[in-house]
Amino acid sequence: MHVTSRAVCVFCGSRNGHDPSWTGAAEALGAGIADAGWELVYGAGDVGLMGAVARAALGRGGRALGVIPEHLLAREAGRRDLTRFVVTQTMHERKKVMFMNADAIVALPGGPGTLDELFEVMTWRQLGLHDKPILLLNAGGYWDGLVALIDHMIAQGFAEQSFRAFMEPVPTPAAALERLQAHFAA
Ligand code: AMP
Repeated sequence: MHVTSRAVCVFCGSRNGHDPSWTGAAEALGAGIADAGWELVYGAGDVGLMGAVARAALGRGGRALGVIPEHLLAREAGRRDLTRFVVTQTMHERKKVMFMNADAIVALPGGPGTLDELFEVMTWRQLGLHDKPILLLNAGGYWDGLVALIDHMIAQGFAEQSFRAFMEPVPTPAAALERLQAHFAA
């Protein structure tokens, strides 16, 4: 059964990274989000994994909401041909608009910007400000180091054990889509 009123926010790199399988994972996730009838929420850029996830979703006839700050329109090749396109003044507004329009979050491999976005929603969840699922798409074990760092933070007494449960590593796009289906069906 398709659930049409759901939106999935994808955080991911504005670069492709060295392993081509990450682009494949972005494409599979974008296509799967479209096929499920969900809206893709993302950073509106046509570069890197961001571009790949959106092209795949739009190519399958899916809906996409892109949110980009004015100063990144040129640098990240902001796409205006999206179902919904929002230009913000600041990076903070971008994150807020993306988050507010999403029912779940998935982080694909990415760099510092992706981590910034991811940690914001994780710390908000820790503070009880939301209970949206946060999936780490751990394609090729990309996020293993991050999971180890968080375990280290908990072991050393700088975070609650519960923090670990806020981010759910999933190995493949198919596993991410399955987890989202189960969450939305509950
Ligand atoms: P990166 O993972 O570094 O390639 O960045 C991924 C995306 O995150 C890019 O679209 C960046 O513009 C975006 N980004 C980086 N820092 C921030 C921030 N502080 N707030 C919102 N978006 C950001």
